[in-house]
Amino acid sequence: MPGVAEQQTMRVYLRVRPFSREELSDHEDQGCVVIENSQAVTLNAPKGSATMKSSEKGIGMSLHKFSFSQIFGPEKTQSELFENTVKSQMYDFLDGKNALIFSYGVTNAGKTYTIQGTPKEPGILPRVLDATFHYIEGHQYEGMDLKPYLRNDAQYLDPDQVKQERSAKAAIFASVKEVREKLELLSSSTAALSSSSLSQEQTGMLASNPTEAGSSQFTLWVAFFEIYNECVYDLLQSSLCTKSKKRASLRVCDDGAGNAYVKDLRWINIQTLGEACKLLQFGNKNRSAAATKMNQSSSRSHSIFTMKLLKIDGSAVKWVSEFSLCDLAGSERCNKTKTFGERLKEAGNINNSLLILGKCITALRNNQTDRMKNSYIPFRESKLTKLFQAVFCGKGKASMIVNINQCASTYDETLHVMKFSAVAKQVVQVIPDKPLESLAPCLVGRDGKPLLRNGGIDSEALESYLSEEELLDEEEEADMSLLPQNELMNVIESMRTKLLAERRRNLVQEMEIRKEMGDAMLQQIMESEELRSRQIEELKESYQEKMENTFEMYKDAIKEHAYQSAMNNLEDDYVPLDEFIAEQEKWLLNLRQSVPMPSLGVGSLQMLVYILYSDDRFKWIYKEKCAIEKMCEDKQQLILSLEKRLMDLSDTLEKVRDGFMEKSADLEALQMKTKSMEEVLLQNIEKDGEIASLKAEVARLSQKSPVQPKAKRGLLANIREAVTSPRKCTPTRTLRKTPKATQR
Ligand code: ADP
Ligand code: MG
Repeated sequence: MPGVAEQQTMRVYLRVRPFSREELSDHEDQGCVVIENSQAVTLNAPKGSATMKSSEKGIGMSLHKFSFSQIFGPEKTQSELFENTVKSQMYDFLDGKNALIFSYGVTNAGKTYTIQGTPKEPGILPRVLDATFHYIEGHQYEGMDLKPYLRNDAQYLDPDQVKQERSAKAAIFASVKEVREKLELLSSSTAALSSSSLSQEQTGMLASNPTEAGSSQFTLWVAFFEIYNECVYDLLQSSLCTKSKKRASLRVCDDGAGNAYVKDLRWINIQTLGEACKLLQFGNKNRSAAATKMNQSSSRSHSIFTMKLLKIDGSAVKWVSEFSLCDLAGSERCNKTKTFGERLKEAGNINNSLLILGKCITALRNNQTDRMKNSYIPFRESKLTKLFQAVFCGKGKASMIVNINQCASTYDETLHVMKFSAVAKQVVQVIPDKPLESLAPCLVGRDGKPLLRNGGIDSEALESYLSEEELLDEEEEADMSLLPQNELMNVIESMRTKLLAERRRNLVQEMEIRKEMGDAMLQQIMESEELRSRQIEELKESYQEKMENTFEMYKDAIKEHAYQSAMNNLEDDYVPLDEFIAEQEKWLLNLRQSVPMPSLGVGSLQMLVYILYSDDRFKWIYKEKCAIEKMCEDKQQLILSLEKRLMDLSDTLEKVRDGFMEKSADLEALQMKTKSMEEVLLQNIEKDGEIASLKAEVARLSQKSPVQPKAKRGLLANIREAVTSPRKCTPTRTLRKTPKATQR
């Protein structure tokens, strides 16, 4: 029967944390968060926030409305949250399906409180664990010899391995003795949940009710790890507690079916809620110890607690389901964290993985809203999204709990969180309801070989498992040690062909790009050259024009001035001729009358001078003469200053001429460059010829057999030889690992 796909938008819940006493006394309560109803909330920007400032400038609004699948106000209890958010996903988990819940928000918004809670107020994680144990009670598989393997499969452990498992578990529990009292408090408070967590009719809702299934048994394994700075650290590794040892980071690998998993991650089989709580406590202690040792804050890492439930029928594993709870790092942006150097790098990486999560969610949403669009979803760009890719792509349901506080001082960050969640809410998840057979996990033995499936992995299947990108991407850590020798040969063969084709394609593409770029550059240079010469020409013309204008102006000014002064003089001195003569005669008459005139002889000149000096009239003439002399002097000065200005002008002219000469020299240099560009063009044409011949060569190569092992002894050929005769040469990095059955 073909499966029916289930479609629904991702569930995004909002939880608003109550104010703490300190926040209230710091006047953080400014009515920023107003819960309208169970699905709508309004954010009011407080005075002084960046949002308010920009809204005052007319950019953006001061009021924002958001809607959620459900909103939990400050008064809502942990149990109410669990009942209305996680429970349906928990049924899925108990029914063989995968689930993922992540808490998103700034530091101190209540993410850890929501996921883990406190001993008095346990969060969703202890509640899911409690309900799970309650569900499988009486149907627990005691063996401990069936363990999760890779992402979806199971592994059969031999008695030695079981012993190792038991001692590893005992070692962890031995080191948490000192916190036992506290844990028991937690266990007893969550124990109170047991009776209420799954009622009889609720268990009846599950397809595989253990009470009806009868013979079916269950076993629960858990892992607890953190992603810090794009490195994965196991929080259940006991060696962590010793201060001398550096934390070893784990690799994220591909299981060959496109599912990412953490290689060598420790999985612990647990039988009771108490054991689970101890592990949680142990992991938390490790997390904060590592953070303190490195002087880090644990709020900068993502912590992930994963449960795997195996359903066992007789000796067969019917299904493996997975439930992950992810407490994300604080989403505050880098500039607020005031980090330098190492801390800046750390903040960058954390923001990066949250950024990639945001990008993935946006791309998923965009691809869904616009069917024509098929943009790339960057799941593989961060460890976090790589691990959750399968869930986002329909192998389980994901939901998000957004945590916010109501503080005015962190309003802008809170708004940022809300905008992110608004996008997440639009993501549609398509979960195919496949028949159970196709989901059945593969059960492998100690050597990693399937125990239940007939034969090995056929090469066709292998081809489909490992896509081209995965084979060629060096970053992708496909775990080759999982494959037998002949499969490795097949992989190498297919890699070789793909690599050859890829190289050919790249070569042709490179040539084309080079040519295109060369042409574009030449075109650009020619255009700029033309522009420059035009500019120089214009500049030259404008200078010339300016010079001429200035000259004309000065010439006119001088003429005008000369004319004006001449006119002034003329006006001042002008006396009509008749008047002048009459005046003279009058004056002579007066002279004769007042002075007894001697006969005009030798002394007559002295006499005249005497008369002149003794008379007022002559004094006036003398004064006039002085004034005229002074005027002459002024004119002389003016002429001198005009001459000086003329000299300055000719200096400027000189400079302009020099500038012009320089520009002309530049122009000449540019013309030289153009010539050399023409040479480059010629070379380009030659290169075109070479490209054509290379293309022909490529075409000839592709007509021939793609594999010519003797001709080229590349890296792949060496690997191939190494695989066929491993004793003859040094093993390569991939082959050094002998195929292992265990994950550790
Ligand atoms: P985060 O993990 O986001 O940094 P925490 O979970 O550590 O934030 O919460 C910060 C503080 O607020 C803790 O002291 C926690 O106990 C308290 N707190 C958070 N949410 C609630 C809530 N819903 N009710 C009461 N106290 C809360
Ligand atoms: Mg926290």
